[in-house]
Amino acid sequence: MKHRTARRMRAALALTATSAALVGLVGLAALPASAATPDDVTEHGGATRNDGDMTEMLRESLVDGPAKNVILLIGDGMGDSEITVARNYAEGAGGRFAGIDALPLTGSYTTYAVNADGSVNYASESASTASGWSTGTKTVNGRLSVDVDLDPQATLLEIAKANGLKTGNVSTAEIQDATPGAEIAHISKRGCFGPVKTTADCSSESVEAGGLGSISEQLLNVRPDVTLGGGAATFEESAVAGPWAGKTLFEQASDRGYQRVDNAAELAAVTTADADQPLLGLFSLGNFPTRWVGPDATDIPDADSTKLPAPVACTENPERLETGLSLADLTDKAIDLLDNDNGFFLQVEGASIDKQDHAANACGQIGETVDLDEAVQVALEYAETKGDTLVVVTADHAHTSQIVGSAIPGLNTHLLTEEGAPMIVAYGTSAAGGSQQHTGAQVRIAGYGPGAANVVGLTDQTDLFFTSANTLGLNQDLASLSAAATLAAPTEVLPGATYTVTASGLNADWQVRGSDDLGQQDVLRGTASFQVTAPAEPGTQTVTLTGAQTGVVLTADVSVSAAAPVDPAPTASATPPAAAAGSGSGSSSTGSLATTGTSVPFALGGIALALVAGGAYLVIRRHRRGHALSHN
Ligand SMILES: [Zn+2]
Repeated sequence: MKHRTARRMRAALALTATSAALVGLVGLAALPASAATPDDVTEHGGATRNDGDMTEMLRESLVDGPAKNVILLIGDGMGDSEITVARNYAEGAGGRFAGIDALPLTGSYTTYAVNADGSVNYASESASTASGWSTGTKTVNGRLSVDVDLDPQATLLEIAKANGLKTGNVSTAEIQDATPGAEIAHISKRGCFGPVKTTADCSSESVEAGGLGSISEQLLNVRPDVTLGGGAATFEESAVAGPWAGKTLFEQASDRGYQRVDNAAELAAVTTADADQPLLGLFSLGNFPTRWVGPDATDIPDADSTKLPAPVACTENPERLETGLSLADLTDKAIDLLDNDNGFFLQVEGASIDKQDHAANACGQIGETVDLDEAVQVALEYAETKGDTLVVVTADHAHTSQIVGSAIPGLNTHLLTEEGAPMIVAYGTSAAGGSQQHTGAQVRIAGYGPGAANVVGLTDQTDLFFTSANTLGLNQDLASLSAAATLAAPTEVLPGATYTVTASGLNADWQVRGSDDLGQQDVLRGTASFQVTAPAEPGTQTVTLTGAQTGVVLTADVSVSAAAPVDPAPTASATPPAAAAGSGSGSSSTGSLATTGTSVPFALGGIALALVAGGAYLVIRRHRRGHALSHN
């Protein structure tokens, strides 16, 4: 054929309004025009992908940081094999994904986990791997953003937020699933989505035990500006303890100012998402339905290729969510809502490449890869327009599917690719009926924009944390970001009067807790206010507020006097350093931030412990304040 006529699946299914607008994207910066077309791969040079000498293109693609924004796109389980399977099927042998294959700088990274005793585990999963790039610290399979000692490690999303950037978390999985969960939660078992499971399986970390709570409850505490995905079922569970005990997590979200949407029309109507009104869009009870469906894999125990069914094409899944809720659409909306003068950090996950690979479902897996590719196109279009955004596309770990030449003893799927060629996709890491396993191969990482040079060559998954944080110029010392907080309170009030105290500058605390019966408030833009009632008798009332994440302590002494003015004006007072609280030295308080984990005394609940650890931390780290934001 002389022209690439009607691309079967793409023409039939793919081009949403969003992706249609992106057809011209491949010319990203100075990318090569176009690679081989399927009709000339037999000619001398006809299968090449380079367009002449690439040296100048590569030079131009090396852009110094800082970047204002980072968009991190993860294909869960998207190893080299999964990319190739999907490209062959959807684009043909000489084809190119307009998003995934357009990033000019590529490398590979290692994805191994560690065991609780610190030894290496070469077969990782999504929780340990997502924790790796989210925190820069390797951990044990099944854990989210805690280290081998179960100490919480600050995440890219949390650090970005504490530095004043807007933040977003988008996934086609349940939003509590490992990849999105690692950015917003710290917990020993990835399955503790909500209060029910947490009470049963993560009891010492539950809210009722004084812990940080389930993944969903931690999400509500961290308060990213934009959260879009699945997992609505868990939000119907009720909190067991704490300020929202007995209320569902959805009710809690509404109480705390979240905008909640659950369909495309409502999402389209949202025009702002910020600290006051963060967006929580959950569009399915569980994971999103896949984009494509196809034949079940055929179990051929004797590997007799004559038993392979005839090759077939994938078809559209009638269960797919409505138009406007594709991963590309969600990415587009998130970027719109996050774009601001201070910059943003956005993570986007195409989750079911992995899940369909586990299920040995080739069409499901391929469709999700195509879906992610369109989300990458959206991110690249934004980044190309702005020139100040680092886009990274990678995976968490490799997976099972392999292209083979004849049936394997096990599961086989016979597909007909875009150019009409047969392709056998085999699944051989579990017997039929079992869950296919992750594999331990390094995976591809590709980048575009300021700082993208740091993905080239061989890196580790944990490098991505530093590449992102350093390119954004983030101060990774969270305690220091709350250390200059102040508490404004009137100097003198009437006995029995109600007055307001306001904490400001609590940049790395998501909640603050008041002494006595003052309860807890969400910290918005570093600020939170409490209504305090003065005692009936004259004297001095001491008000103490404690940042739940850093443990910073703010105090004000208020004189209670019958001679006080009726409407006292609050006076801001610099906080005395929390030094007074600490005599011990926090375990994470020494060493260079460039090489040690960003461990912070996450203390919601276990506040007494945090007062000691946090206090010492603050004293030691106060010297470092000042090398904060450089990206504005
Ligand atoms: Zn998996």
